[in-house]
Amino acid sequence: MKHLFRISALLTVSLLLSGGAISAKKPVRALIITGQNNHNWPVSNVVLKQTLESSGLFQASVIVSPSKGKDMSGFNPDFGSCDVVVLDYNGDPWPEAVRQQFVQFVRKGGGVVVYHAADNAFADWKEFNEMCALGGWEGRNEKSGPYVYWKDGALVRDTSPGSGGSHGAQHEYVLTARTPNHPITKGLPVQWKHGRDELYDRMRGPGNIDALLYTAYADPDKHGSGREEPLMFTVRFGRGRIFHTMLGHAGSTADDNPSMQCAGFQVLLLRGTEWAATGKVTQPVPADFPTAQQTSTRANYQSKD
Ligand code: ZN
Repeated sequence: MKHLFRISALLTVSLLLSGGAISAKKPVRALIITGQNNHNWPVSNVVLKQTLESSGLFQASVIVSPSKGKDMSGFNPDFGSCDVVVLDYNGDPWPEAVRQQFVQFVRKGGGVVVYHAADNAFADWKEFNEMCALGGWEGRNEKSGPYVYWKDGALVRDTSPGSGGSHGAQHEYVLTARTPNHPITKGLPVQWKHGRDELYDRMRGPGNIDALLYTAYADPDKHGSGREEPLMFTVRFGRGRIFHTMLGHAGSTADDNPSMQCAGFQVLLLRGTEWAATGKVTQPVPADFPTAQQTSTRANYQSKD
């Protein structure tokens, strides 16, 4: 009798476990860090959260830092509560303990998404710049690392002196996949047209790009560098996975926001965030993904299918 009980208890436990696996997938926990930025963070953080959550894959929380110049000692994100940190922050240094906790989180396998001007932050923080691979502005120059761009089928590391980070006028531009078989890019068109946005160029840094996902040509007619610029890529840091997208300059409101309303921006954000958190991408290619000729807008930050 005792023996039978044990067997039935085991069966119950295994049924519960398999039942858990069959039922709705556990959401990926994303922590968006914002509160200081030279960009419209009150719009961008809301849009990031809404985009992530409307996919049904993520549970997103937001931590808002003290405002610029205020006491940062109480700023203490709980990295242990999330699978992936989404950086929408460009501002005052974090307390040393928080910096160390963040480095440990990533070293141990935590995911990171570096979004747009987040790669402007912390020019003097070595580990952070290794997570970004490339950054701009905030005094970056040849001491920050080489310029890195795509030329003749390969990444060039250009050590010539000069400031890091610039962009021309906002415009629509075409992105070209350079690693089309990566989980993040697989199945998507090799070329797609992005909604009106800045095109970051002349970025510098350690340049430790792992997989180069997309480049775009910074047209001198739009006051760009004349180079094919790496705009989206992955980075490895310890056991952690980082997805870096330079796209998504926030508009004045959520309803006037062509770069973040672009279906291409949103789909890559969703795929990159899932990959950074789990190493996999389980999302199908949506019907409204842009083509090389045609932009595609999701006014409500939600897939139509
Ligand atoms: Zn911007």
